[in-house]
Amino acid sequence: MAKRGNLSINSENIFPIIKKWLYSDHDIFVRELVSNGCDAVTKLKKLEMIGEFEKPDDEEYMVKVIVSPEDKTIQFIDNGIGMTEDEVDEYINQIAFSGAEAFMAQYKDKTNEDQIIGHFGLGFYSAYMVADRVTIDSLSYKDGAVPVHWECDGGTEFDMSEGDKAERGTTITLYLNDDSFEFSNEYRCREVLEKYCSFMPVPIYFENEDAEQPEPEEKEDVIDMEPSEEEKDENGDVTLEDEDEEEDGPEPINQTTPLWAKHPNDCTEEEYKEFYRNVFHDFKEPLFWIHLNMDYPFNLKGILYFPKINTQYDTIEGTIKLYNNQVFIADNIKEVIPEYLLLLKGCIDCPDLPLNVSRSALQNDGFVKKIADYITKKVAEKLSGMCKTDRESYEKYWDDISPFIKFGCIRDDKFSDRMKDYIIFKNMEGKYITLPEYLEAAKETNENKVFYISDELVQSQYMNMFKEQGIDAVYLTELIDNTFITYLEQRNKDVQFLRIDSDLTETLKEELSEEDSKSITDKLAEIFRKATGEEHIIVKAEKLKNPEITSMITVQEQTRRMAEMMEMYGMDRSLTGMGAQGETLILNVNNNLVQYVMDNPENENTEMICQQIYDLAKISNHPLKPEEMTAFVARSNKILNLLTK
Ligand code: ADP
Ligand code: MG
Repeated sequence: MAKRGNLSINSENIFPIIKKWLYSDHDIFVRELVSNGCDAVTKLKKLEMIGEFEKPDDEEYMVKVIVSPEDKTIQFIDNGIGMTEDEVDEYINQIAFSGAEAFMAQYKDKTNEDQIIGHFGLGFYSAYMVADRVTIDSLSYKDGAVPVHWECDGGTEFDMSEGDKAERGTTITLYLNDDSFEFSNEYRCREVLEKYCSFMPVPIYFENEDAEQPEPEEKEDVIDMEPSEEEKDENGDVTLEDEDEEEDGPEPINQTTPLWAKHPNDCTEEEYKEFYRNVFHDFKEPLFWIHLNMDYPFNLKGILYFPKINTQYDTIEGTIKLYNNQVFIADNIKEVIPEYLLLLKGCIDCPDLPLNVSRSALQNDGFVKKIADYITKKVAEKLSGMCKTDRESYEKYWDDISPFIKFGCIRDDKFSDRMKDYIIFKNMEGKYITLPEYLEAAKETNENKVFYISDELVQSQYMNMFKEQGIDAVYLTELIDNTFITYLEQRNKDVQFLRIDSDLTETLKEELSEEDSKSITDKLAEIFRKATGEEHIIVKAEKLKNPEITSMITVQEQTRRMAEMMEMYGMDRSLTGMGAQGETLILNVNNNLVQYVMDNPENENTEMICQQIYDLAKISNHPLKPEEMTAFVARSNKILNLLTK
């Protein structure tokens, strides 16, 4: 039956192209060859189910990966369906190359490797990314099948002859090329197996043929709080309890039934947490999770976890692992998973996903959009459901999940529509309230104005003043809140958000006739400009209800936001010509110091008093500049000295 032939292909040589362009990650050959082994087993299982095949009782279906660092080989062995000579001819020699042509037609001119995530039916040939020579030995399950041996050294010629494989199944042997020896290293290979194969549906065993002694590792069932390297290496094995502890029986590196594939009703809280620890190596417990389980109109299963965020300064970055029938495809594929969901951690298995297309094609795929919509809907349902039925937990988690929810609302109108009634704000009493609740309470004092605190320390003066007059404010202290406020204003056209130092609501002050206000303001402005030497200082006289407040600074909301934005884009505020960025010095006419200054503009101490009043107002709003601070300290000492006279 010996046969020699040319691989049917129109190009001179497909292999250099495979090596260079097919996959951005060379380690993907492991995924392809192991999943082919799993496929072969799955096919045989199906035949068994319909009575076409009978498996010997003492045999376990499996895939075995054996490295030999000495020979620089990797073998992928399965006891699946096997192939006859005709099948090798059909599936390996011919079919694969029609995929290659499609691939070449599409990617001839492209230089961006990242654009390729699928496998073009070229799975088997990915072996040539790392090997110069590959052999196949296979024995079909069919009665009287003859073993077949195939080999090809990376040219366009292959050799096929009768082989000597005695057991049913297929062995693929890769003779690694000079650049790819690393994959025959035990640890490297194990790492790659864990990356791609942790949840494949057939038990996968791993072996280093050259290891001194294959130590049967003791599995500890106590979980260390600090994951050691070995522990990470073992992480695939959660099937422990299903296994009757055979003496010395090696354990598969994978978990053949991942938690997401089980029905949510059959999963325990501990299982969810353990799965999270094992998959994400995160030893902080997740806050909560969502088990996705959908059969129609498409098939999608998965678990999404809301991780605990330590501080707001943590770069919040999750990992969503995408699987296709339990075969790992990639992390964080933005085209499939809405960007804001990438703050979460989780696994999504979608067998229907068209993965053998480029990323840009995915982006425009209607089906992919449906998946994203479904996930969005489920996440919003979970959150709104919790808010409605378990408000206590919702409030407890709010600080952790709010950056995610806010980001989601800003990015995704659909998510925003679903979540809009479940956005809550912490108020000055530490209670969580909704926007309508705030607005209702504020009707009398600050209608349609929402006062917010961005920095509790700096704004404590203002908070006290608001509290005294029974006016509420909410905390909006996260980085994302700047953007979120603008977004909220766009969505609620009547509502205005004002930082607590930006505006004096009527409730805080008594009436001052327009005429009085103007004349007193003019007078005070003149005195203060002269005393401080600041020509452009903006002064305003107000009758504040609390007579103990001498002065304060207000910062015009819009001007401040502009300035902050410019700063964010790295522009110098002083170049924007906005000077003190909309700052107004408010002077309280009800205060005796201010009264004194008005009555005694020419007194020898008036200048110093004015300077001090101005500095104190500034200090309660923002830190002084170094030279201002120096002057302030010197002046304070001078004033203290006056007390001794
Ligand atoms: P795909 O898996 O997408 O079909 P591959 O290039 O990975 O593409 O494999 C091509 C074909 O070769 C498979 O469909 C299968 O028929 C056959 N094949 C590959 N590996 C094995 C194996 N280990 N056992 C049996 N058949 C195999
Ligand atoms: Mg395949």
